[in-house]
Amino acid sequence: MPHTVTEPTRVKAPFDVMRLRQDFPILAREVHGKPLIYLDNAATSQTPQSVIDVFSDYYSRYNANIHRGLHTLADEATAAFEGTRHRVKEFLNAEDARQVIFTRGTTEAINLVVQSWGRQHLASGDEVLISMLEHHSNIVPWQLLAAEIGFTIKVIPVEANGALDMAAYRALLSERTQLVAVNHVSNAFGTINPVQEMAALAHQYGALILIDGAQAAPHQVVDVQAIDADFYAFSGHKVYGPTGVGVLYGKQALLEAMPPWQGGGEMIQSVSFDAGTTFAAIPHKFEAGTPAIAEVIALGKALEWVESVGITAIGAWEGRLLDHATQAVSCIDGLRILGTAPQKAGVLSFVVDGAHSQDIGLLIDQLGVAIRTGHHCAQPLLAHFGVDATCRASFAAYNTLEEVDHFIEALNRVIGMVR
Ligand code: PMP
Repeated sequence: MPHTVTEPTRVKAPFDVMRLRQDFPILAREVHGKPLIYLDNAATSQTPQSVIDVFSDYYSRYNANIHRGLHTLADEATAAFEGTRHRVKEFLNAEDARQVIFTRGTTEAINLVVQSWGRQHLASGDEVLISMLEHHSNIVPWQLLAAEIGFTIKVIPVEANGALDMAAYRALLSERTQLVAVNHVSNAFGTINPVQEMAALAHQYGALILIDGAQAAPHQVVDVQAIDADFYAFSGHKVYGPTGVGVLYGKQALLEAMPPWQGGGEMIQSVSFDAGTTFAAIPHKFEAGTPAIAEVIALGKALEWVESVGITAIGAWEGRLLDHATQAVSCIDGLRILGTAPQKAGVLSFVVDGAHSQDIGLLIDQLGVAIRTGHHCAQPLLAHFGVDATCRASFAAYNTLEEVDHFIEALNRVIGMVR
């Protein structure tokens, strides 16, 4: 029997997990002779057939470089590429499609802000606030620039349950704060951060906020205007799309005032040896060179798929899976969950007494279950909690309650083997 969750806010077909699983060919495969149970969705989500089909369709029918082309194939490719920009605008509720810049992913989107806005605005004595929950991609780019320029990075601490310490955040904000860079949802613990409230507080001090939405975009409604985000980044491959493409949203006036960070074709208005170079308007100013055309078009298809299911329904379903898994693992002797904040997305991070996370990951793979083990690119967070690795199960729209049960059964077997 399919499990059903009815999406409360939109009139759509009921959430039918068994039906939507059929959109994902990879879910039919076996691993070590066992049906695949894929619980590594926070690292990358699987891809529906409609998204996979974009690649053969694009390369067999209308492969051409975009913009400036005067032939039919170039027109078709440009229209499909720019169509995704409009879809992303709707997905994020941006004011204008020109505020959507295509990047290689969240990492590149953050680096764009660091290298363009950061270089232009930051000076010695300034402060950038990041949080203890950050992925390395929202730490290291700031460290690289700080080493050159000499501004200070301050870290918002977390509470014992993995929620951000909001009192400490308030105390850290000051006239010196130029920008706050935080994730919307933590990939390591699943904590959902109160980004709207954080944005309002940052703005009181005249600071900007950059939100890393890599783990939020696949699971909940993102409304950049309601959040009042200055910058918002996400990756295609975590939202049922392909690798190699992501998005940076920025407020229009900010983007217009920022210098380009990479030079080349596509991003210029005119180039002259004598008179110098003038730059294209946004978004093209930030999209030097030939972009990942098929990937961008495929991202549009992925967002279409998400829309057809309903992001609210997806988040509600993953919440059920998380609750079920959390209850079940809580009965396992010696297992400790890291990240028990009241507001969480579908991420379950844990360690087990007497069992190394890596051993659990390797052995559970033999039973067909894919989870992630390691530091999840959040070494400072794990070090703060006194561990160097955790096991992490993370859920997507296509996971089932039965899969969670199999995962728990497999986990119990594996723990029995290694202890
Ligand atoms: N931020 C968060 C919270 C993430 O989970 C990830 C991916 N694990 C990234 C940033 C980096 O995303 P990408 O590798 O797609 O650039």
